[in-house]
Amino acid sequence: EKKYDYLIVGAGLFGSVFAHEATKAGKKCLVIDKRDHKGGNIYCENVNGINVHKYGAHIFHTSNKEIWEYVNQFAEFNRYTNSPVANYYGEMYNLPFNMNTFYQLWKVKTPEEAKKKINEQVGQHAVLNPANLEEQALSLVGEDIYNKLIKGYTEKQWGRSAKDLPAFIIKRLPLRFTFDNNYFDDKYQGIPVGGYNVIIDKMLEGTEVLLNTDFFQRKDYFTGMAEKVVYTGMIDQYFDYCHGKLEYRSLKFEHEHLDTPNYQGNAVVNYTDSETPFTRIIEHKHFEFGTQHDTIITREYPNEWTDQEEPYYPINDTRNSEVYLLYKDKAAQETNVIFGGRLAEYKYYDMHHVIAHALKKVRTELKQAE
Ligand code: FAD
Repeated sequence: EKKYDYLIVGAGLFGSVFAHEATKAGKKCLVIDKRDHKGGNIYCENVNGINVHKYGAHIFHTSNKEIWEYVNQFAEFNRYTNSPVANYYGEMYNLPFNMNTFYQLWKVKTPEEAKKKINEQVGQHAVLNPANLEEQALSLVGEDIYNKLIKGYTEKQWGRSAKDLPAFIIKRLPLRFTFDNNYFDDKYQGIPVGGYNVIIDKMLEGTEVLLNTDFFQRKDYFTGMAEKVVYTGMIDQYFDYCHGKLEYRSLKFEHEHLDTPNYQGNAVVNYTDSETPFTRIIEHKHFEFGTQHDTIITREYPNEWTDQEEPYYPINDTRNSEVYLLYKDKAAQETNVIFGGRLAEYKYYDMHHVIAHALKKVRTELKQAE
């Protein structure tokens, strides 16, 4: 008889949803995390009442009603709507590309005028088989939007010229012919009142959590404590990198406390020129309509990934996808380990995807355990 039913590696969203449902069903769980806090990448640090998104701006959005209702049991959500603004050498444009943007670019006032202008802009760039990201973007939106709003940002993000990036990175570039700055098309959107920690704390209420605890420091010991392991860390690390390392893009965040109540008038401002070294500035208080006398901003710099950096975005090129499949095969043979979440599945997941996925896995698991 083992002490726990589940040892859950990772107190991020996946691990927390799993722990919550399993505990509710009467299972005994132990959650461990190597960081000094719960929440994984959605963790917020409260500084003078401002919830600082420590691992990048997080906006909850979904069209899935069940998931929306699920998260709403853990926190109330405010009416925050993501409507980023782009700064191109001091010229300001609304995003996503919509009638406001087209007016700012060309003073066009009607959808018909805007469509005509975009057709002119695409002109001879309309190609059937774009050879790279630059050709792809030009063929979709034409010169001004590409040069002012896409090129610099994308090149900074990937650390490479748009001519050296594959066309498939940009499949579509939605153009909206209404005066609507809402970035997401989803039905539901918002920020949890009090920040994301409220959700995680509530999910993990009644579950044992050990922080500052790395699974790999005592892998056999932890594995031996429970009937099953739920693993949400990096999949290649679990198998001791036997098929080589999976690669990531990383980010660097530079936080600054400023003695002014409102630095940029918006939560997210993208810097789309190629000279500014960062891609965006986040002003955290605006996610929650903060009225503090001071503010905290974060400059976000794209960064090469090394073992010392946080792995943020998986790189889904051919080499990494093939290596991942080798690990996935190995994972399928580990009958007592459940792999889940963005690192164990080497996949970019939004929060609503992770919740849906964790719910599916834990429900299947609990049914089998009945
Ligand atoms: P994580 O949150 O990474 O949790 C994994 C946990 O496992 C971590 O806490 C880690 O410390 C722990 N761990 C790993 N290895 C070990 C080990 N060996 N021992 C112990 N613990 C270990 N989603 C949205 O819906 N909206 C957004 O606006 C949004 N913005 C994003 C912005 C950025 C910059 C990034 C990178 C992601 C964004 N996301 C957003 C996605 C969101 O962050 C993820 O969907 C979610 O955090 C994934 O949860 P997870 O539990 O899978 O992983």
